[in-house]
Amino acid sequence: MKITAIETLVCNARMRNWVFVKVVTDQPGLVGWGEATLEWHTRGVVSSIEDLAPLLIGEDPRRIEYLWQMMFRQHFWHGHGIVRSTAISGIDIALWDLLGKIHGVPCSQLWGGPVRDWIRTYCHLGGGKMEDFYETSVEDAQRFADLAVQAVEEGFTAFKCMAVPPTRPVEGLQPIRTAERAVAAMREAVGDAIDIMVDCHARPSPRMGLKFAQALEPYGLYFFEEPCWPEHVSALAEIRNAVATPIATGERITSIEGFRDLFAAGGCDVCQFDVTHCGGLTAARRISAMAEAWGLGLAPHNPQGPVSTAASLELGFAQPGYIICETVHADVPWRQDVVQESHQRKQDGRLVLPHTAPGLGIEINEQEVRKHPFEQELPQRVYYPDGSIGDW
Ligand SMILES: [Mg+2]
Repeated sequence: MKITAIETLVCNARMRNWVFVKVVTDQPGLVGWGEATLEWHTRGVVSSIEDLAPLLIGEDPRRIEYLWQMMFRQHFWHGHGIVRSTAISGIDIALWDLLGKIHGVPCSQLWGGPVRDWIRTYCHLGGGKMEDFYETSVEDAQRFADLAVQAVEEGFTAFKCMAVPPTRPVEGLQPIRTAERAVAAMREAVGDAIDIMVDCHARPSPRMGLKFAQALEPYGLYFFEEPCWPEHVSALAEIRNAVATPIATGERITSIEGFRDLFAAGGCDVCQFDVTHCGGLTAARRISAMAEAWGLGLAPHNPQGPVSTAASLELGFAQPGYIICETVHADVPWRQDVVQESHQRKQDGRLVLPHTAPGLGIEINEQEVRKHPFEQELPQRVYYPDGSIGDW
C-alpha cells in the first residue's frame, strides 16, 4: 500500500479558511482526511503541505510514526514552526483517519479503546459567530449575560468568552473592573451550575494577567485561559500559584519540548494543545501522556473546522485526562453541509457519543466545499487608545 498524492481543499469559513488535507492511496477509494487550518496563513500552510508531499509519496501510509519523524526531521529544519507544524498536523490526522479505515475501526480503538461513554463540549459565546465572540465590547456586560443565557438555552453547560479587555503592560483599575462586571453579569445570569471560561487571548502582560486572575477569582471560573503570553512560562506559573482558578494554555505551543517546559514549570492546570497545530494526533498523544504525569486536564483548542473537531473528539475517547472539548457551531450556517459526521450529539448538555465508523468517522462533501473557495480572511486587529498595536 502506497501514498499516491496529498491534496488540499480550502474552504472559506469567514474568519478562517478551513484547510482540509486528503491523503490518497493506490487502493481505489481509500483516502484519509485531515485538517490544517491556520487563520491568516492559509497560503503558507497549503504551500508547506506541497513541500512535504515529496517526502511521503510512495511511502506506506500505515507507518505513521515513521512518516511523522520524516516530516518533522527531514529537510534540515525541525517541523515546529507554526506553519510547518500545522501542515504536518493536517497530514498526520489524515494518516490516522486512513489507518482506522484500513482496519475498519474508529481511531479510538487503535489507541486502546474508549475510556468514557461521552465527551462534554463547550461553546464560544455566540456559538462561534465572529462578531459575538471577538467583537462584543467588554463594556457591554448585559450583552455578555444575554449571550451566556443563549448558550445555556442551546443546551450547553459550559461556555467561553473574552471578558478581558486588551491592556498595555501596566494599567490601572478600570479594565479590571470592566472585566469583573462582565463576568459578574454572566454568573448572575446563568447561576453556579454552569461553567464559565474566560480567554485572555494572551493579551495581558504577566502583571496584568495576574491582576485579572485575582479579580475574577470570586466568580469560580472553570478555567482562565492564556492569562499572558505562553513564552512567559515562569509568569504563567506565578499566576497559577496566586489563584485557585485553574489556568489553561497550550494552543500556541507546537513542540513536545514546549509542553515539557510548560508542565515542568507548573504553568498550567489545563493543557490546551491544538491537534491541528501541535504535530497532529501523534504529537497530541505524546503530550497527553506527559500531561497525565503532571495530573493535568486536557481540553483541546478547537475553533477550526469539522475535521479538527472530529479528531479532537476521537482523541478524547481514548485519553483518561480529557475533561472537555471546545466547539463552534455558528461560524457559518452551512457547516453541517460540508461534512458527514459519525459522532452523535445530545442537544441537552451538548454531549458527544462515541461512533463505530472507521477512522475519524467523517466524510467531506467535496462538491459543497468547492462552493466556498479561498478568500482572504476577514481582518481582526487590536489597537490601543494611543494608536499603538496590541495583541489580537
Ligand atoms: Mg484561546
